[in-house]
Amino acid sequence: MESTPAMAADALPSITVKHAPHSARAVTAVIRTEQLTIRYGSTPAVGAVTLDIPEQQVTAIIGPSGCGKSTLLRSMNRMNDFIPSMSVEGRLTYRGMDINGSACDPVELRRRVGMVFQKPNPFPKSIFRNVAWGAAINGYRGNLAEHVEQSLRRAALWDEAKDVLHKSALALSGGQQQRLCIARAIALQPDVLLMDEPCSALDPIATARIEDLIDDLKSEYTVALVTHNIQQAARVSDRTAFMYMGELIEVDDTNVIFTNPGNPKTQDYITGRFG
Ligand code: ADP
Repeated sequence: MESTPAMAADALPSITVKHAPHSARAVTAVIRTEQLTIRYGSTPAVGAVTLDIPEQQVTAIIGPSGCGKSTLLRSMNRMNDFIPSMSVEGRLTYRGMDINGSACDPVELRRRVGMVFQKPNPFPKSIFRNVAWGAAINGYRGNLAEHVEQSLRRAALWDEAKDVLHKSALALSGGQQQRLCIARAIALQPDVLLMDEPCSALDPIATARIEDLIDDLKSEYTVALVTHNIQQAARVSDRTAFMYMGELIEVDDTNVIFTNPGNPKTQDYITGRFG
């Protein structure tokens, strides 16, 4: 349905949208879903979703709990493979490669398309070893100490971590642990970072630091972010995709979604009528 001025003016929340629209810019879709349906058993969790994740932008996926956001996000690096009842139909590509095709090595895919989870999950090892681990496994040949430093700097944790590198990661605060998990993902030299509610376990100050970091990371990485926090989507994303009951209702530049959404369901969700 076309939006009307009356609808757009109807009690939109006072949310500051940070980013200018990208529509005019030609962008590459790093990940593309085409008519993607994902089922658990016979029940679809994601229904015929067609969505591009554009390069070096932050795409937020929003929608009420249970609408399929995480399932969609996790399909992008085949994290759902571990669920035996899960089946996929439709097409899902990473830089043109069929993610579910036989030519795709899921381990290499997960290196290129890293993931940060809801709850920070550092290994019970030192800060240094958390970051060095993936690089070492991947046969990193350079100076490991420098690589760890660069990764921690990129994740805005170096200043806090440099004097305690060999202390347990579990002694860090929740927000620091989440930045450490981002550093660990960055150490693998990914192309895309998938973030599944990365701030939901954090206090407002730690959340603000992660949001600033996400904004900064997109100069180098493509980010897809699942969040139930619509203000967060407005603050950090360039594009917003709104899902409802497994379907993609609409996707557009974030400022359009938050000021003049095309679908009344989007309007209802962002104005807090449900969710
Ligand atoms: P969201 O991230 O939007 O909260 P999810 O992708 O987690 O939604 O879930 C979408 C639907 O899939 C829900 O109905 C949920 O119960 C179902 N679901 C999620 N994970 C599983 C699973 N491992 N097995 C069966 N059903 C699942």
